[in-house]
Amino acid sequence: MKSLNQSPEALKSLLQSTGQSLAYFVQYDGQFVASHPALNGLKSEIEHLPDFDNHEGIFIQFDPETDAIFTASVHKTKRGQGQGGVRFRQYDTIKALIDDGLRLSKGMAEKNAVAGIWWGGGKGIIYRDQVHNLEEDLRYKIFQNYGKFVASLNGIYIAAEDMNVRPEDIDVMYQYSRFTTCIPKAKGGSSNPSTYTAKGVFSAIKAAVEVYYGEGASLKGKKVLLQGAGNVGFHVLEQLVEHGATAKVFEISERNIAKVKDQFSAEQVSVTQDQDEFFSSEADILSPNAIGGILNEQSIANLKVNIVAGGANNQLLDPIKDSQLLYERGIMYVPDFFLNRLGIVNCANEQYGYVEEDMQAQITKVYNDTLDLLKKAKADNVSPQKVATELSTKLMEEEHPIWGHRGPKLIAQIIKNNPIVSAELAEA
Ligand code: NAD
Repeated sequence: MKSLNQSPEALKSLLQSTGQSLAYFVQYDGQFVASHPALNGLKSEIEHLPDFDNHEGIFIQFDPETDAIFTASVHKTKRGQGQGGVRFRQYDTIKALIDDGLRLSKGMAEKNAVAGIWWGGGKGIIYRDQVHNLEEDLRYKIFQNYGKFVASLNGIYIAAEDMNVRPEDIDVMYQYSRFTTCIPKAKGGSSNPSTYTAKGVFSAIKAAVEVYYGEGASLKGKKVLLQGAGNVGFHVLEQLVEHGATAKVFEISERNIAKVKDQFSAEQVSVTQDQDEFFSSEADILSPNAIGGILNEQSIANLKVNIVAGGANNQLLDPIKDSQLLYERGIMYVPDFFLNRLGIVNCANEQYGYVEEDMQAQITKVYNDTLDLLKKAKADNVSPQKVATELSTKLMEEEHPIWGHRGPKLIAQIIKNNPIVSAELAEA
């Protein structure tokens, strides 16, 4: 059996067998190297994953105290340190765990680049077999130790909030690592980024409606399918209804379904629990705000919508193939990394002092940028994903005006602190 197909539980023993407190795979001296010979098999498999894009580093630690595996994946750091949220969840295989870090860190690099932020892309993961209903002491320990792990990476990765991570967890991490963003307002931070993410998503939806239906077109009377009414989705829903749209919601959390039913009338928002019926419903817009990978060959063939624009990360299972399929079906897809950036923009501001007006300007910027993107794609007869990816690829090559390409220096420092074990040393 290939190592990547095994359960993450098997990774724990592999990591322990190295005797290293920090394991890593990094670009060093023109090669992708593992920190220990016992990890070479895994390294070769990672290099062959479709989502591997010569990432600068993947850092891994097993934390026996909390029975968790910590990872931080860093895509490119030419624009600056690899920044992105920490995700706290269970995975069935090592492949799924590593892949998520690779995909999401690249997505963050693209997002930070189009947002004009001097950060590269990173993603943190805390893997645990059980993540819900934890004792508060254990939860504290997990985020304390993850904070220490991030601090040990010398700043190559900067953490933020993502799936199953609460503002209180960020506060704990911040006590142990200065490389933490989206910190609580009481500590001078910007706190939960979701409201701004949702405002950016809504701005992009408005722009897409204008480009698709013609100048002056509005959301009044438009039908929307909205998947996921959580932190982001619920705020998107509020704005849609406020602007006269009606929506059908597909959501799996009873609590969030109740919240939707409580807030909106049945004429404004209907709720379905039939996923197939939801995705094959006729509507103007589909707004995915739950999970990634929902746009694929099968689902795209069934869609009966004109526009897809939502906050969820990595909506396209295969970005090149699936964006082309949407384009060929005449469905206008606004790339996720292009429109769900305001959460991270909100967090990026906090280290320079927080200015609320900046965010108002950014909401307008997402609207104008989306108009430009969609109009260019239309004029060039290509998918918006192609235009957005060309733009982000170009911007990712720009080097930080002060620090230049910092990642390789930070990696050299990490190696100095945690030396690579040679084959001879491992055998001795
Ligand atoms: P959340 O956990 O608050 O909300 C997600 C909602 O989706 C939950 O209500 C959940 O029950 C529901 N859900 C999960 N799986 C589902 C499924 N298969 N079908 C229907 N509903 C499902 O998370 P969030 O912060 O709102 O983030 C939503 C998405 O947006 C994620 O992909 C996240 O990575 C992305 N995103 C969030 C932010 C942010 O600021 N929070 C920023 C950028 C991107």
